[in-house]
Amino acid sequence: MARHVLVKNLTASDHVVVVGAGLAGWRFVEALRREGFLGKVTLIGDERHAPYDRPPLSKSVLVGKWGAEKTTLATPEHLDQNDVTLRLGVAATGLDVAATTVHLSDGSSIQGSWVVVATGSRARLLGYSADSLLHTIRSRDDLERLETALADLGEGSTIAVIGGGFIGAEAATALRTRGFEPIVLEVAQRPLLGVLGAEVSLWLEGLAAQAGVELRTSQRIEDVKFVEGDYVVSFEDDVDLLARAVIVGAGAIPNVEWLATSGLEIDNGVVVDENLLAASRVAAIGDVARFAWPNVFGSEQVRIEHWQVSNDHAAHLARVLVTGEAPSAPLIPYFWSDQYGKKIQMLGHPRVSDRAEIVNGSVEEGKWMALYSRDGVVSGAVSLSQPRALMLTKALLEERTSLEDALVRAPWRA
Ligand SMILES: Cc1cc2nc3c(=O)[nH]c(=O)nc-3n(C[C@H](O)[C@H](O)[C@H](O)COP(=O)(O)OP(=O)(O)OC[C@H]3O[C@@H](n4cnc5c(N)ncnc54)[C@H](O)[C@@H]3O)c2cc1C
Repeated sequence: MARHVLVKNLTASDHVVVVGAGLAGWRFVEALRREGFLGKVTLIGDERHAPYDRPPLSKSVLVGKWGAEKTTLATPEHLDQNDVTLRLGVAATGLDVAATTVHLSDGSSIQGSWVVVATGSRARLLGYSADSLLHTIRSRDDLERLETALADLGEGSTIAVIGGGFIGAEAATALRTRGFEPIVLEVAQRPLLGVLGAEVSLWLEGLAAQAGVELRTSQRIEDVKFVEGDYVVSFEDDVDLLARAVIVGAGAIPNVEWLATSGLEIDNGVVVDENLLAASRVAAIGDVARFAWPNVFGSEQVRIEHWQVSNDHAAHLARVLVTGEAPSAPLIPYFWSDQYGKKIQMLGHPRVSDRAEIVNGSVEEGKWMALYSRDGVVSGAVSLSQPRALMLTKALLEERTSLEDALVRAPWRA
């Protein structure tokens, strides 16, 4: 990863072109204005909707508590206040880095003095025969398509949810609330094993059953076919499962294909430095950015698909571009998920191999907080229905505390 030097701070004569009208793109526009940038801003998005928030899609919206329009972040008033030119329904197809020019799917081009890549990620499909008929939950249009399919299904219909990670668990929870019979098919021995590690996934085991959701683990799916109105899920070593709909929650992949000939370094995302710069006048933020994250263990190259990280990236980049100075507070990634009737929250970016131990509450109480540590230093925290304890722990990560000191200070008890 190369470090890039900021040639000069933004001035009123600059034009910033932001590609990707999602959370990170929109928050960056807001942050630029907050920092006092008076120049031109153009925001380009391939969806037909103004920037909106995705987390509620698999929660309140799928449950039916919220209409999709309630997720809107950039209302007409917000757009007006932020003096932004919004170009929706058009995709960026290429980037000329030297000329800071973005080529668009309608044949036109936009030249700015800075380009910010915020094209996020998209839901991963797994290459099954019926892929084009399966559902994913990434966008408002995905939700609309899913709702159309659900409207034809009776109560108690079986819906296969492929993947027991965050999106799969949230979707299953919402579908169960609506009277459907979701069956979650997870390839690993336990859900979230590859994300939260052995101990934590063990402590989370049983949540699905408590919420009345059928969770099948160690499921090796061979194919999903659409046969005479039903979906047939076939396994390497089990009998077929018949379902009326199938949702795939198998992770996300960064939207970088449009940058293939740009010359930017692409490696599971757009590779950027500690200030999110990919070239002298190009930056990347949010889900698409693979950034250098300085922490107590060194500088790790990470791509993190968390809502809070997009917000922090947007604020960080705007500060750097407008003032030339980076914010002093270290980035502490934060994530939450509402699943099986519980709130899971996480701080830091622990590796699955980091050691985890419960330091507050207990599995029996159904409320706990665990600390992760690596080489005797706190690397993260995860909690189940203990939001206050988790937030009180943030300082330990900011101060790069040893596990020994953390256990003595125990801020979660305050
Ligand atoms: C259903 C769901 C639930 C989630 N729940 C949580 C949660 O509980 N907690 C949490 O921390 N995080 C959650 N997340 C993750 C969080 O929403 C993402 O980290 C965040 O949306 C990332 O923002 P982004 O702007 O980087 O990317 P996106 O939100 O993906 O926005 C990128 C935008 O760029 C557009 N785009 C892509 N390519 C192009 C192109 N070539 N030209 C123009 N536009 C393009 C995309 O269509 C999209 O509109 C959830 C995500 C989803 C999908």
